[in-house]
Amino acid sequence: MPDRTFKIAAVPGDGIGTEVIGVGVEVLRAIAGRDGGFRIAETVFDWGSERYLKTGSMMPEDALRTLKTFDAIYFGSAGDPRVPDHITLWGLRLPICQGLDQYANVRPARLLPGVEGPLKGVGPDRLDWVIVRENSEGEYSGAGGRVHQGYPEEVGLDVAVFTRAGVERIQRFALELARSRPRKKLTLVTKSNAQRHGMVFWDAVFGQIKGDYPDVETDKMLVDAMTTRMVLKPESIDTVVATNLHADVLSDLAAALTGSLGIAPTGNLRPEKDFPSMFEPIHGSAFDIMGQGIANPIGSFWSAAMMLDHLGETAAGQRLMRAIERVTGERKAVPRDLGGQATTRQVTDAVLQAIDADNE
Ligand code: NAD
Ligand code: MN
Repeated sequence: MPDRTFKIAAVPGDGIGTEVIGVGVEVLRAIAGRDGGFRIAETVFDWGSERYLKTGSMMPEDALRTLKTFDAIYFGSAGDPRVPDHITLWGLRLPICQGLDQYANVRPARLLPGVEGPLKGVGPDRLDWVIVRENSEGEYSGAGGRVHQGYPEEVGLDVAVFTRAGVERIQRFALELARSRPRKKLTLVTKSNAQRHGMVFWDAVFGQIKGDYPDVETDKMLVDAMTTRMVLKPESIDTVVATNLHADVLSDLAAALTGSLGIAPTGNLRPEKDFPSMFEPIHGSAFDIMGQGIANPIGSFWSAAMMLDHLGETAAGQRLMRAIERVTGERKAVPRDLGGQATTRQVTDAVLQAIDADNE
């Protein structure tokens, strides 16, 4: 009997989330079986918009207590055409991230073999980034309000909240992540010319702590200039740290520059590991293609590889990445968003075969 069993809470959610998480669990099981040594025990939760429409809430009241008994969470998407987006987001994904204090959102962006991004002549050797997004406060703190609704003097406020503890822990996390990568290079992204309080604070905290990581080369960029640099000088970037909003935007751009939103993975990490971390493809419910069986599952698979890595199953995570790269590289099962015709099932089967064929 394998000695290690990982309890995974699968929350497929809505739309294509349900399509890519189901096959993601299949792939996880295949990897576990292939290497032996560990087992995946998943529980699938039916939380999401269907549940909201029936019961008035996206997930049960004791959901966080339930999730805390798992080793990791595997999440699809929240978002349904019948429910306003702020309800689905604040009813499911954000309460999980915030309730389990998953403060480090990590988004790798790399061109996979066989995938042509929109940047001409830029291959995997020139685009290999990790964007670290502050995931617990900042612009998405939820602080704010609306008054005088419907009147000419109506006001809407979203207050960005930056705390020293919150800023320092994400910056240290990013400095350590940068240190673990071959280039040991970190770019701090803020907007401290226009936002003269919170962003100046971010710059100041960074200035105070970066000396603790003398082996990490650092630089600073304003977020608008960073978009230009990502497009024109992708090879000059390695690890990036930014606020919740800024990194949200930059990482969608990064996903597009690596070929498709359908590929991009993310981990909402609780680095202390006292609570489970959550792994998910970065795309949403994709209303335009849901129910058709044509969603690209690679973002979901890559997220599963990040999960294995976080759980300490590094070799299994690498085996899964090799299988994904073999499938994209051979261009036999190419999903529609990458210019092919392959269905979710066909891409999944190709990855399962590549896992079997891997003899390393
Ligand atoms: P989206 O990611 O759902 O779709 C954007 C475009 O990319 C669509 O054309 C879609 O077909 C395509 N696409 C996305 N993933 C794909 C995949 N795996 N394979 C092939 N094509 C793919 O973004 P959106 O349209 O802005 O949002 C739709 C809904 O999803 C909204 O309700 C939104 O709130 C929600 N959403 C949820 C999350 C999340 O839960 N993490 C993230 C983003 C959006
Ligand atoms: Mn986003």
